[in-house]
Amino acid sequence: MDGSPPRTILVAGAGIGGLTAALAFAVHGFRVEIFERAERFEAIGAGIQLSPNATRILRRLGVLDALSGAVAPEAVVLRDGASLKQLARVPLGEAAETRWEAPYLVAHRADLHAALLARASEHPGIRLHPGTTVAGISFENDGVAATAERDGRQEKAAGALLVAADGVWSGLRQFVKSSRDSRSTGTMAWRALVETESPAGRALAPLAPPDQVTAFLSPALHLVVYPLRGGTVLNLVALTKGEAGAGSWASAIDTGPLERAMRGFALSLANLAKAAKPWTAWPIHAVDPDGPWTDPRGLALVGDAAHAMTPFAAQGAAMAIEDAWVLAVLAAGSPDGLPSALARYEAIRRPRIRRVVRRGAFNHFTWHASGPVALARNLVLSARSPGRLAADFDWLYGWRPEG
Ligand SMILES: Cc1cc2nc3c(=O)[nH]c(=O)nc-3n(C[C@H](O)[C@H](O)[C@H](O)COP(=O)(O)OP(=O)(O)OC[C@H]3O[C@@H](n4cnc5c(N)ncnc54)[C@H](O)[C@@H]3O)c2cc1C
Repeated sequence: MDGSPPRTILVAGAGIGGLTAALAFAVHGFRVEIFERAERFEAIGAGIQLSPNATRILRRLGVLDALSGAVAPEAVVLRDGASLKQLARVPLGEAAETRWEAPYLVAHRADLHAALLARASEHPGIRLHPGTTVAGISFENDGVAATAERDGRQEKAAGALLVAADGVWSGLRQFVKSSRDSRSTGTMAWRALVETESPAGRALAPLAPPDQVTAFLSPALHLVVYPLRGGTVLNLVALTKGEAGAGSWASAIDTGPLERAMRGFALSLANLAKAAKPWTAWPIHAVDPDGPWTDPRGLALVGDAAHAMTPFAAQGAAMAIEDAWVLAVLAAGSPDGLPSALARYEAIRRPRIRRVVRRGAFNHFTWHASGPVALARNLVLSARSPGRLAADFDWLYGWRPEG
């Protein structure tokens, strides 16, 4: 930035996308006011996979240094859920660091959130406003004004840009002209946590060792198992068909659909997955990535607010982190002002987001395949060396932000 006073950026939502945006703008010399409607800054859910394209940015922001309990798994292993046969092994660990120059990590969301929050809280350029909802915005001559609502009282906050990081059910998306609503994808995510040293954890260890990410594939569901908190806990995520109304992780839910889907698994795996109770469920909603994400007068959507995607490529948070960094770099460096930075943000990010969404759809198709398609998948995977399988991810994990 030049010698003029720092411009203020308003951020709505202190999830992974919002906190990364706050840090990315602050390290580029902006002042940041970040509003979170929840009274406490907390992450929902359990585990998250952080691929090198995301950890490269988090490392640059100092977040990895503050992240406790993360595990660098040795590999991602795909297994047939019925035969339990290994179909593919993508080396991670040291191999990921060497190939993509950043670690592949799995972490508890609460630990990631705490690390982001620790860095944001100690940055003098960032002010955090918990329990405050951005209820509306208006555009003014020199930027944007947000109506911040706390305890029934409303205040105006002014800035050069409002970054809407308010998630898949974004209320601020409507302020971008001809934006699109989120839609149900007909997929349910189920989650459970198992102590590694519990009977279920010990029985699961030979099938899904706690030093790797294991995905069990079957037509009715796939189940991903990975370690959290230094390997003391296993995170189980299953994706099945289904819909539920709740917009949050629901524990009081009938697990019948999950148990029926698990009948396609080998008995030993289905029994273990059942023993992992309680399961919580989350309906997956998505946002069409082709909708507009910005208003040139000073509004930009990032992360799920812009383009929520299914978790088949485990990239939603990584894309929110990439969005946040790219937007801050462009806003800081654009010689033609903010409107052109916002136009470039959409132009740069959209092709990549589309490609990641396509990758998720491809994973969905092949991981849940049956009959001849599953046979062909297994043949192709078994014919590929681990190095060739890793090379398939170079475009995704090897991505580097401009600037
Ligand atoms: C089952 C499952 C597994 C997944 N696994 C992975 C994975 O392994 N790797 C990966 O990269 N991604 C994964 N994802 C995707 C990832 O969780 C999301 O893409 C990511 O959390 C989105 O972050 P966000 O900051 O955009 O939104 P959110 O995390 O939804 O944050 C939005 C925040 O905004 C706040 N808010 C909302 N409205 C307002 C308002 N008006 N004013 C102020 N605050 C507001 C909310 O309270 C919330 O804190 C997974 C998703 C699911 C469902």
